[in-house]
Amino acid sequence: MARKRILITGAAGFLGSHLCDRFIKEDYFVIGMDNLITGDLRNIQHLFKLENFEFYQHDVSKFVHVPGQLDYILHFASPASPIDYLKIPIQTLKVGSLGTHNLLGLARSKNARILVASTSEVYGDPTVSPQPEEYWGNVNPVGPRGVYDEAKRFQEAITMAYHTFHGLETRIVRIFNTYGPRMRLNDGRVLPAFIGQALRGEDLTVFGDGSQTRSFCYVDDEVEGIYRLLLSDYAQPVNIGNPDEITIKQFGEEIIKLTGTTQKLSYKDLPVDDPKQRRPDITKARELLGWEPKVSREEGLKITYDYFKSLPEKEIQHKDFTYYNKH
Ligand code: UDP
Repeated sequence: MARKRILITGAAGFLGSHLCDRFIKEDYFVIGMDNLITGDLRNIQHLFKLENFEFYQHDVSKFVHVPGQLDYILHFASPASPIDYLKIPIQTLKVGSLGTHNLLGLARSKNARILVASTSEVYGDPTVSPQPEEYWGNVNPVGPRGVYDEAKRFQEAITMAYHTFHGLETRIVRIFNTYGPRMRLNDGRVLPAFIGQALRGEDLTVFGDGSQTRSFCYVDDEVEGIYRLLLSDYAQPVNIGNPDEITIKQFGEEIIKLTGTTQKLSYKDLPVDDPKQRRPDITKARELLGWEPKVSREEGLKITYDYFKSLPEKEIQHKDFTYYNKH
């Protein structure tokens, strides 16, 4: 049987690169695409030697051309941390809206199934917990996170419209906080921020009083859930995340213990519209996909810490929230 061909956008990013690995492992022909604004070629450099991997440097907000047949498209191109949205708000809006439109058009022309990466941010600062897929959210469209949240909400709307109007095969995954090797050390997200601070011997900066909660999913679990959703026949959105909820203060204490740093937690202002709680209701994923996370935070954090520790020292010392390779 001929190899299935899959296009993965955001291929050089954190999740995109792990998805490339997974589909290579499943013996697909993988076409990676990335404009490398927040992505890093080092995440996929080990794939370049393979005959079933190709890479295109391209911005999917512009017309996307891919030669040959495609069976599947995974749209994972997007800045994905609050610091990124502040630095590149217009690109964030464009990749979620124009980029999604281009890829839906490509999927139609190739008769391919498309899965788009949505996010728990569609729930905004949720007033119900845990968040089931039926919850409509509590989003501020004009706040700093609005550029991401509303692009992703538009993405879901246009994806459903292509499904109902054009009969396109579509899948929507709502991704909750995910972590693991290949996250950017300086992307401003809480886990790389805390580990970077511990490695540099600085205090860990907790925003607000640290009572806000998040639920962290290890990347291998996230990828397994996405893989199963793509191959399912379910077109409505599905939460994929780990329901093990923790406050940011407790999380900081766990990182202190893990890294053995002698530094303490220090407190800073809470950013505008920072969600107070976040925890996925994964009943649907359990029932439809037979999926649930397997990796405990203790195990996952250890692997992730070992990854960050192994980075070149000058990268660990590079504190600015900039794109390390671009400056
Ligand atoms: N946070 C923090 N210190 C940091 C970075 C983030 O306390 O150095 C907090 C942030 O305010 C939020 C949580 O950690 O409440 C998770 O932030 P992150 O940017 O990782 O992702 P979010 O889930 O907010 O999109």
